[in-house]
Amino acid sequence: KIKSGLAQMLKGGVIMDVVTPEQAIIAEKAGACAVMALEKIPADMRKSGQVCRMSDPKMIKDIMAAVSIPVMAKVRIGHFVEAQVLEALEVDYIDESEVLTPADWKNHIKKNEFKVPFVCGAKDLGEALRRINEGAAMIRTKGEAGTGDVSEAVKHITKIRGEIAEYKETLKTEEQLAQKAKELRVPVELLKETLEQGKLPVVNFAAGGVATPADAALLMQLGCEGVFVGSGIFKSSHPEKLARAIVEATTHYNDAKKLLEVSSDLGEMMGGVCVESIKQTDKRLAEIGW
Ligand code: PLP
Repeated sequence: KIKSGLAQMLKGGVIMDVVTPEQAIIAEKAGACAVMALEKIPADMRKSGQVCRMSDPKMIKDIMAAVSIPVMAKVRIGHFVEAQVLEALEVDYIDESEVLTPADWKNHIKKNEFKVPFVCGAKDLGEALRRINEGAAMIRTKGEAGTGDVSEAVKHITKIRGEIAEYKETLKTEEQLAQKAKELRVPVELLKETLEQGKLPVVNFAAGGVATPADAALLMQLGCEGVFVGSGIFKSSHPEKLARAIVEATTHYNDAKKLLEVSSDLGEMMGGVCVESIKQTDKRLAEIGW
């Protein structure tokens, strides 16, 4: 509860991927609510084809020293020792992330055993609730990181919201609830709490493929409570201006006049790869896991 309260403080904000202290300072000045410290942004990791691990703690520490907003860092799925190392470093949040190569293809980290809050990715309600049951304080859509294609993030938030709405309508008896909880492999109490609230019991951010202010506002209008932006900002021609515009768009996501203003004259956006084009040729990050 305390950990999800910490994550609630990020609500409505934008979390930006940064690879240097200089980028972290730009993100903070632009109004980011937190930064994600990492060595390579997902667009570059995707190209590398290498094992992607936790970043060098020295590099994360330098970013922590450069800014006063919370700093997050990523660990591999199931790599509880990388998480122990980052907790010892006192990062503010840990992202157990499919953007890195998984260390364990079956088990995620038992996040309840840590004091530091975790964020995890999800594509559907079952996945989100399994991660929350393991102790995640925050959920983000998996999206398709590094592409600049927002469509997978849209798919994931629509799925999560749609399943909550559907089960709220259709699961009336204790037996039906118990059956669905069993199918989703989560405690029935957690499913009930979610359906009663009509939303996940922790903050639900968007991530994966967000590249423009309009993308951020789209995901907010679809029910996300904040946005992660990875490759989008520092792969564009005017990072400072775009970073500020995405923060504004996330705050004023229902104000078309404001969105018009902040969408204008931003220079070149990140190039982007459409999700369809990588369907056959490459493994999609969102499809890591089941
Ligand atoms: N996501 C990733 C990246 C995984 O590697 C795995 C499992 O190994 C999962 C998700 C599956 O977890 P679950 O079925 O509990 O959602």
